[in-house]
Amino acid sequence: MKRVYLDYAATTPTDPEVLAAMQPYFFEKFGNASSLHAYGQEAKKAVEDSRETLAAFINAKPEEIVFTSGGTESDNFALLGAAYALEKKGNHIITSAIEHHAISEPAKFLLEKKGFKVTYLGVDKDGLVSCDDLKKAITDKTILISVMHANNEIGALQPIAQLGKVAREKGICFHTDAVQTVGHIPVKVDELNVDLLSLSGHKFYGPKGVGALYIRKGTRLETFMRGGDQERNRRASTHNTTGIAGLGKAIELCRQKMESEIKFQSSLRDKLIKEIPARIPEVRLNGHRTQRLPNNVNFSIKYIEGESILLSLDMLGIACSTGSACTSSSLEASHVLLAIGLDHETAHGSLRITLGRWTRESDIDYLLEKLPQVVQKLRAMSPLYEPRTF
Ligand code: PLP
Repeated sequence: MKRVYLDYAATTPTDPEVLAAMQPYFFEKFGNASSLHAYGQEAKKAVEDSRETLAAFINAKPEEIVFTSGGTESDNFALLGAAYALEKKGNHIITSAIEHHAISEPAKFLLEKKGFKVTYLGVDKDGLVSCDDLKKAITDKTILISVMHANNEIGALQPIAQLGKVAREKGICFHTDAVQTVGHIPVKVDELNVDLLSLSGHKFYGPKGVGALYIRKGTRLETFMRGGDQERNRRASTHNTTGIAGLGKAIELCRQKMESEIKFQSSLRDKLIKEIPARIPEVRLNGHRTQRLPNNVNFSIKYIEGESILLSLDMLGIACSTGSACTSSSLEASHVLLAIGLDHETAHGSLRITLGRWTRESDIDYLLEKLPQVVQKLRAMSPLYEPRTF
């Protein structure tokens, strides 16, 4: 059976070149990067080379990069670390209603357990946060703003540079979760006006379990992994040398390939955006038409459940998603789709298709052939659907 992977936003395969770059650090160069002997020094070199590659890619300084175990840790570190470091200045945090749980859960924890106040900025029908809303939400107690760069479900790209400018003018620490953008579109910390930025290796063809937090020089952040003095005392624990070497190689490959990948993937994305409504009646594109990730398509398909579409496609060898991977086992409607104004029923029928390095036009054509058949079959069984007879 043909197998087509269209769930790159959940995770990406590790690029074979990344795997090859990681290989030596499992056996020949297995040293602890904190050891003073030659084994340690060659491991340390891998860590520092990767740090330099990553820093150059996002226009940061190497000492502003802290390696972590992934996007969730980076997000928790940013939110909890800044909140605790700045709590004497104020207790108000602003975030958006469409953040990944790696931000919304620590925000909820700060609200419910630690006495912070949290404002959730709403989004418009395209999933975009407005600068005016941010300005109105700021109080003299606001210490931290966190708005994601691109949404993982609907791909909406937020106006981070403008939001960051508002934060900077008020002297408020500004974090962005760039887990879905790093490696896929240009991400420059100076242009985005951010103080903190999270990223994760497995979203851009690196290994799982490694990520980084960019911390602008001078940003106050409470450490939450205590132990050894790794990462300039910012984050204890023996370096994940293999993962970090892989992350550096993955970034290097993205630097080389990003421009052509953006072009190719956005052409396939636009084909889906044009062809799905042409072949299936009563569908709705979620997220902004153009201000979206080059590899993301999200449609609500009325009268049927996202989960049934997903499973039917899976039986045909096609892997998609109906929300973020972390929530796809729960049957609750997506908070992102509700935030853009969809009713529960429409929100339940969403399908996310995300493309990547190994997506070919024939994969898209296969989906375009099979999806209308799947929808027609499911709608025929749906008590909600009455076919139009014109
Ligand atoms: N933030 C966003 C926007 C994501 O899409 C994800 C993963 O789906 C995360 C954070 C969590 O990243 P990780 O899987 O590396 O912990």
